[in-house]
Amino acid sequence: MTKNMGLTFLLLCLFSIGSNIHTGGHAHHGETLKVDLNDKKVIKDLSELNLNFEDFMSDFRDIISEARDGDVVGNGGGQIEGQVQFYLNSLPSFIMSALNQDIIYFTQVEKEVLERIAKNITNNAADIVYIDNNPNDFFSSDEDGAIRIAKTGFHPKYPIFLNRTMIYSMFENDVNFNILSVLVHELGHQAGIKSHRGLDDLGAKMELVSRFSRDKVFYEIGNNGVSVEIFNHGTLSSRTSILVTYFNQSLTVKAWDFKKLQSKCGTGFPAGFQLLNPHWTSRPVSNRKVKTIKLAGWMNIVCVQSSGSYISSADFEITLTLSNVVDYKTKID
Ligand SMILES: [Zn+2]
Repeated sequence: MTKNMGLTFLLLCLFSIGSNIHTGGHAHHGETLKVDLNDKKVIKDLSELNLNFEDFMSDFRDIISEARDGDVVGNGGGQIEGQVQFYLNSLPSFIMSALNQDIIYFTQVEKEVLERIAKNITNNAADIVYIDNNPNDFFSSDEDGAIRIAKTGFHPKYPIFLNRTMIYSMFENDVNFNILSVLVHELGHQAGIKSHRGLDDLGAKMELVSRFSRDKVFYEIGNNGVSVEIFNHGTLSSRTSILVTYFNQSLTVKAWDFKKLQSKCGTGFPAGFQLLNPHWTSRPVSNRKVKTIKLAGWMNIVCVQSSGSYISSADFEITLTLSNVVDYKTKID
């Protein structure tokens, strides 16, 4: 913990108060997560709501299947799709971090919900369906008629419908908008939680956890730029999550040379790693339509042996290729 962290924490708290993700205007003030997840009445209530949700899906089946077909053609390569993929894949690691820290307070029920979310993601990748332009009031809420940013049922078997048009406009208009809190909110519903307000709070807390562990490097190119966000998770066996954003694309850096990692551990086994001190090592180099830019830093590799674990150090380098399609190469020395 550095001295700056206290200040950062305070600022982030202030940010998060103003950045609750639901624009649906919930009138459930004072509501918190206190549902007994094993209560028979709660379970019955949720299964009735799930029947309503299935009716909803069958009413809108044309729109849903059209959206699914569209995603295949579009191949989900845009900024939102890339970030959704990144945060879904990294969420179990963020949750481990959340459960292994004591700066941000999580209630017992919140911890239980987070564990359920992590388990649901690990068992089955969430089925994300992007819907554009809210056709036929697809995202209207039954409760108050407001247009929601996302919709799902109370079980992980249901898709999560994301209001792509609304999310893109929030990306453009709100610098603090983070898709992570939307995903935590919807996955929380799937874990059996009804309270929108309680899930907004949980999403905001998870966003804080993610920001604590983040290093961000940015290089301005034209009116835009390339940013690399590096999230070191708080547990020994976790690997750093890396998100690259360039113009309207986002991608996850995850391919590392396992043999090289292994060789840094000698007779041990590389359980995880953290990336420290990330910085650009060269300006972008242009070659026709392709630009390359390099980022480097230190790597702490957690090696496990029968006698215990130890840290081995290395250097890492990421070469980004910026063109119509962003790509990367990683190197460990
Ligand atoms: Zn909700």
